[in-house]
Amino acid sequence: MKKQYASAAAILVAAAIVGGIAGNSFYTKRHFKEDIVKGDGVTEVRMLSDYNPRLKGTIADTEIYVLKGEEPGGSVLVLGSTHANEPAGHMAGIVIEENAKVKKGTVYVIPSVNQSALTHNDALDGAPQYMHYTTKTGELRTFQYGSRATNPIDQWPDPDIYTHRSSGQSLSGSETRNLNRCYPGVEDGTISEQVAYAVKNLITTDDITMEIDLHESSPEYAVNNATVAHERAMGIASEGVLNLQLEDIAMSLEPSPATLHGLTHRELGDFTNTYALLMETGNPSQGRLRGKTDEALVQTGIDPCYVVNYGLGLLYVDYSSGSFPMELRVGRHLQGISEYIAALGNNEPDKAIIVEGIPSYQEMLDNKVGFYLK
Ligand SMILES: [Zn+2]
Repeated sequence: MKKQYASAAAILVAAAIVGGIAGNSFYTKRHFKEDIVKGDGVTEVRMLSDYNPRLKGTIADTEIYVLKGEEPGGSVLVLGSTHANEPAGHMAGIVIEENAKVKKGTVYVIPSVNQSALTHNDALDGAPQYMHYTTKTGELRTFQYGSRATNPIDQWPDPDIYTHRSSGQSLSGSETRNLNRCYPGVEDGTISEQVAYAVKNLITTDDITMEIDLHESSPEYAVNNATVAHERAMGIASEGVLNLQLEDIAMSLEPSPATLHGLTHRELGDFTNTYALLMETGNPSQGRLRGKTDEALVQTGIDPCYVVNYGLGLLYVDYSSGSFPMELRVGRHLQGISEYIAALGNNEPDKAIIVEGIPSYQEMLDNKVGFYLK
């Protein structure tokens, strides 16, 4: 065989091996099914497609866990994984679903609201694909670490400019796959718009009193350790924020900008009767200043680059401990949810929700996430 044919054959074989390994990784991630355990307090499991039948049979369809108490009261909807590279919201949703017992009112949890975004990673970010936790009984459970946006396999191509349907607002084309720019959604729109429509339709159909969307953000981003509230939700949000501050949990209150469209705290407040809130906690594994990005960074938030930048006064979170671990971020979300539920009951006693079994901030710091997984 001529020398050049031998070289070409070797290159082809090498390409096939690399393609095979990458293809297997993509395929496994795409079809990975998280084994979320139905908690004892769950009274019903619905699907997002119950609120937009177009989603039935698509990868974007996902479980809605309903925890209904015996006494009537208000209701709250918790959304995790709007941005699937912000894993504290995903894990907080799962911890609530697997542990909470509702006495009065109803709690709805969608831990994977953008299921498609959990099936891939952001290109060139070097992010891990999975997160692992050991439960109390020693079982290892695996969860997805995803992308900020809907998987392009499910929604392609992006337009040059994304026009938000109900407001006409223009954004860059890739934002068309950002679920939190698609509310209040479009019943027969893109898959992201269809998901947003289903969430809005759930809130309208079940007359959900309060909605809390769980996010994380880069420690160097100004809206951090913050709750963003629609103007109708300001009374509940300000009481909750005050109580969190009294518990030494840093939380600022931000008004939802009236002219920034497509976000839960704006559109679900405008297009439904719900009190719309969004919580942000700091996540070094998604920041632009981070160094090596792996599961250890996701879980511990330990990054020497952030230590330097904290010293330079460039961060919006207290990074004095040199870490920002998952249990702290999940604990903040859980304590925030408990405080906003309490504030709702104080403001509107007929809409009170009584729920037990949501770990407090301190309990989550002490016991860590795996302790609360079945
Ligand atoms: Zn986010």
